[in-house]
Amino acid sequence: MDLKAILDYQKIDIKVYKYEKEYASSKELEVANRCKKAFEERKKSLVALGAELDSVINQFSKLEARLKELTDNKVSSFSSEEITDETTLADFEKEFTIYEEEIAALNKDINAVIKKINDINYTNKTLNEEMNAFNKEFQSAAAALKVKEEKIKEAIKPMLKQLKEIKPSIEEKLIKKYEELRKAKRMPAFIPYQPDGNVINCGACGMDITVEVAKKLLQSGDVAECPHCGRVVYRP
Ligand SMILES: [Zn+2]
Repeated sequence: MDLKAILDYQKIDIKVYKYEKEYASSKELEVANRCKKAFEERKKSLVALGAELDSVINQFSKLEARLKELTDNKVSSFSSEEITDETTLADFEKEFTIYEEEIAALNKDINAVIKKINDINYTNKTLNEEMNAFNKEFQSAAAALKVKEEKIKEAIKPMLKQLKEIKPSIEEKLIKKYEELRKAKRMPAFIPYQPDGNVINCGACGMDITVEVAKKLLQSGDVAECPHCGRVVYRP
């Protein structure tokens, strides 16, 4: 099998592959992704916080309504004419104590709810500040990434042109296999076999593949698949 075209293709494509790898593992991309994730997490927290605030405000309204109801009732039901002797006075005092206790309990609940609202507002403010900071960091990383991307695009332009020219001359099943391996990030995809006496090793994963390929790699241009890493091992 004539492997010249696919090997030429691979030689150029490996350079393109390295640029892609450089981009994918760049600090800027890492920062951009990290910031985006942190931003999204906080956004989610903010939505949850909004729902919590609604529920606490609802609680507050109920407590406030109960307080008003209690005060109004007391004011309208209070009548000095009811207190005619010591028994009615004692009853009145007892009732009033209960009333005062209930008011005190309600006030305690209201204060707790107010504190909760303040806490939520504080968390809300903190989340917003953090989101602004992450957004700023993301924008700056994204801008740097864009510059990097443009540079890479410019650098690989002539390579892509060459690849396009070579591709039609490559045997269909070879390019198909090559593209499969590239997609799986097993590069280089085509590897020369490495004979060491009677032992044949895969040039990529280094495994002894003598049993599987010895009969297939008899002459120059013969190819076989490494059973361990799946790459195409060829005899130069
Ligand atoms: Zn291998």
